[in-house]
This record gives sequence, C-alpha cells and structure tokens, in this order.
Amino acid sequence: MSVTTETQNYLNYINGTWSVSESSEQLKSTSPANPSEVLGHVQASTKQDLEKAVDAAKEGQKKWKKLSGAERGNLLFKVADILERNIEDIAETMTREMGKTLPEAKGETARGVAILRYYAGEGMRKEGDVIPSTDSSALMFSKRVPLGVVGVITPWNFPVAIPLWKMAPALIYGNAVILKPATEAAVTAAKVIECFDKAGMPEGVVNFVTGKGSVIGQGLAEHKDVTAVTFTGSNATGNHIGQTVAARGGKYQLEMGGKNPLIVADDCDLDLAVDAAISGGLKSTGQKCTCSSRVIVQEGIYDQFKQKLLEKVSEINVGDGLEEQSWMGPCATKGQYETVQKYIEIGQEEGAELVYGGRPVSNESGGYYMEPTVFDKVTSSMTIAQEEIFGPVLALMKVETIEEAIELANDVDFGLSASIFSKNIDHILSFIDDIEAGLVRINSETAGVELQAPFGGMKASSSYSREQGEAAKEFFTTMKTVFLKG
Ligand code: NAD
Repeated sequence: MSVTTETQNYLNYINGTWSVSESSEQLKSTSPANPSEVLGHVQASTKQDLEKAVDAAKEGQKKWKKLSGAERGNLLFKVADILERNIEDIAETMTREMGKTLPEAKGETARGVAILRYYAGEGMRKEGDVIPSTDSSALMFSKRVPLGVVGVITPWNFPVAIPLWKMAPALIYGNAVILKPATEAAVTAAKVIECFDKAGMPEGVVNFVTGKGSVIGQGLAEHKDVTAVTFTGSNATGNHIGQTVAARGGKYQLEMGGKNPLIVADDCDLDLAVDAAISGGLKSTGQKCTCSSRVIVQEGIYDQFKQKLLEKVSEINVGDGLEEQSWMGPCATKGQYETVQKYIEIGQEEGAELVYGGRPVSNESGGYYMEPTVFDKVTSSMTIAQEEIFGPVLALMKVETIEEAIELANDVDFGLSASIFSKNIDHILSFIDDIEAGLVRINSETAGVELQAPFGGMKASSSYSREQGEAAKEFFTTMKTVFLKG
C-alpha cells in the first residue's frame, strides 16, 4: 500500500506499513484559499492505533540504536535526497493545504532537506568526553545515549520544517519516533513521511499517526513507553502536555507562542527597518511564532516610519499563494481567520487606531483572506499588545528612549524573538543584555532562524530547552558516565 489510496485517503505509517485506522474514520484537510477544495482525508486514529505505533517503535528502536551513527546518517542522507527530488510537489501541497505562498513553501522544504543533511552528518560527530579519573588506572568517560521512543507533536504553520527539525535529531541519536501532525497540514506531513518510507527506514523507527490532538496527542503525552515528547504549538496545549508528561516522569520540550517586538531607533536605516517590519510581521500571513507583532518606534523617526510602512503595506497583494503575484496568502484555518477578526475588533474597542486594513478580503471561493492590518497608538495594556494574534496584524507603539523601548518590549509574558534596528553600539549592547528573548536579532527581522543554531524562547514561549543545531542533542539523548577499569 502507498501513502494514499485512490480516494485521496492518506494513511497512517506504522511499523513500516501504510495502514487505515481501526476507527475506519477520517478527518478532512481542506484548502484555506478555497475551503470547498479537499486536499485529502487523513486517519482519525484511535488509542489502539497509537498502541500499535508505540509497540512498533519500541521494537524498532532496539535495532536502530545498534546501528552506527554513520549508518543512521546514511539513511537520513537518502531521505534528504528523496525530499529534494519532491520539493515541487510537497511545496505545492503545503501552499494548497495551509496557504503559505509557494516561494515560502519551497524555501521551507529546502530547509527540511538541509536539516536532514545537517543531522545526517551529526552521526559522525563525538558523543562524549573523557574525564580524568582520580584513579590513574581507570578510564572515565561520558557517552550520550538515546532516550527510546520520542513522541513528536507539531503545528500546521511549518508542516515540513518543524517535524523534521524534531525527527532528524531524534533519529540520528538512536531514537524511534511517532509523529502526530496537525490535521490542518497532515497531507503535507504524510508526503514527508513517504520520503522516509522510500529511503528504506527500518520497520518501526519512523511512525506516523494522524488524528485528534485530544486523542493521539494526549495519548502520546500519557503513554508510559513514550520516553519523551517534543511539542510545538500553542501555550494552552503545550502547558497541558508538559504537565501530563511530567506527571508520569517523562521528558518534555515545549516551543510555544510569541509576541515579538521589533524596536526601531531614531538612528536606524529607515528603509531596512520598514522592510523588516513588513517581512517579519506579515509574511506567512503573520503565522510564524517569530513574527514581529509589536513595532516599537522612537518618537524622532515615528512619523516617517509610519508613513513609509503604510505606503509599502498598501502595495501588498493578497492571493492564494500559488499565483506569482500573491505576496500574502490566506489565514490557514477558519478558526485562525475568525480569531484575527476578533482581535481586530478588540483592538478598536480598546482604543487603538486602525490605520490600515482590518477587513476580510472578499473573494468568490470563500477563502480566509484578511487585509494586512496596522494599528497605531497601541499601548502595552491593550490585548493586542499582549496576546499572540497569529495573523497579519502590526501594532505600532511610540517611545521616547531606547531604555523605554526595551522595557516595553519585555512587558509581555512571551520571550521568543526580538530585534532592534539601530546603528548605535550602546543601544545595541544594552538590547543584547536586557532583552528577554531567546532569539536576539540586530538590524534583521524577528523571524528567521538558522538550522545550525540553537532555537527557542524564554518566559512563556518555551520550556527553556533548545531545538536545532547541536543544542538538540541535550533533549534527544541522555548521558551515561562510564568508569572503566581493567
Ligand atoms: P495547537 O496547540 O492547537 O496544536 C499543536 C499540536 O498539538 C497539533 O498537532 C494538535 O493536534 C495537538 N494537540 C491539540 N490538542 C492537544 C491535546 N489536548 N493534547 C495533545 N496534543 C494536542 O497549535 P497550532 O494552532 O497548530 O499552532 C499555532 C501555535 O504554534 C501558535 O501559538 C504558534 O506560536 C506556535 N508555534 C510555536 C513555534 C515555536 O517554535 N515556538 C513554532 C511554530 C508555531
């Protein structure tokens, strides 16, 4: 059987086999640009399906961990090659399924290829240190070892990159994985899993179980044989998962929301700052966890900044993401579309001044399009300055000094990414020191991360562990300290 049946029914992948769920029920994945277009149906899996996946993963991991890192790496290199050959199809599926524009979807899929290659190479790197023993006739060393079975729970906004930046390190360090993707982007995820299948991954090492978060996500969090759970998504879900996994003594990692500030100093390069606010705030329809949603501008440059920003925002084309001219696609889901409208209403009710956009874009297909939206006169106590909107909405805030800007930037629960545009080294240094964010960016937009560097937030944005780069080793392995005496 292959990833899908003739009726566009996408299957689970358990123990190296594509299979239908015990429930015989499916969940529908539709296009946000045209909700009547069905991308496919995925399995509405049950706890029994998950049980089979956990059993398969436990068995598969026993053999997988015995392979050398280089052997595991060779398989990941193969997956990368297959994914690379399928970039066009997978990117187009992503655009249709969750509305990201095609160039962004291609960029994300290419990033997935690079992630796989980066971690494939990791199989040849060191896995411990020699530590001098007080016994001169002994050899003492540390050795990183896999955890066992890792549950991977992912959101819809990066349906290729996020599963891969979790799965690739989990796998290279010798774990087996069970991926539960967001249903809204599960067809794209199924096509990624197909690449693992085609590369000849051993049975049980990679498993894919779709279904409701409250059933499969919750099941992974509760299952005693799932040693660790890595999650990216909203704070409400993440905190619940963290508590569930912690209660049974498992390991967990949570990457959650953001309310990322972009500070614009009087002395900055104005054009660069405007472009960064637009790209960082509105690309992907504002649906990146690292999106700039608060633009904090020093008063000396405020009016000029606002004027240029509004000019450029007015040039943005909204479309289905497949057409070349569409710069911004639809909101990814109906729920998200409604949430964005709700926040725009709240912003106005609380006294922020709507200076651009704010309305749905009418269209024949009933797509979830919103105008790019800019609020002026936003204060820190307003809901739109505090809560993650996850939509194309920028909030402008005026300050006198950079100290005030940093204080305002920190005045939220979140702490994912933050950036400053300035040429003044004192401003830059105090920003680096004082900003409460895991990703600190200078003269560059808040969104954008490199796969070889640690990624993660502070405060409510994260459970303080880091993903990607070498930092991933910390989460996906545990350590043995070996004392060896002849
Ligand atoms: P979500 O929390 O609704 O869903 C994420 C995943 O959790 C999905 O697979 C979902 O099915 C599953 N889930 C839902 N309920 C569950 C439950 N009770 N138990 C276990 N699993 C459950 O998030 P979303 O709407 O898909 O994604 C948007 C959110 O993701 C935003 O808040 C965004 O900031 C965040 N995000 C964070 C990062 C980061 O790295 N910090 C990256 C991307 C997205």
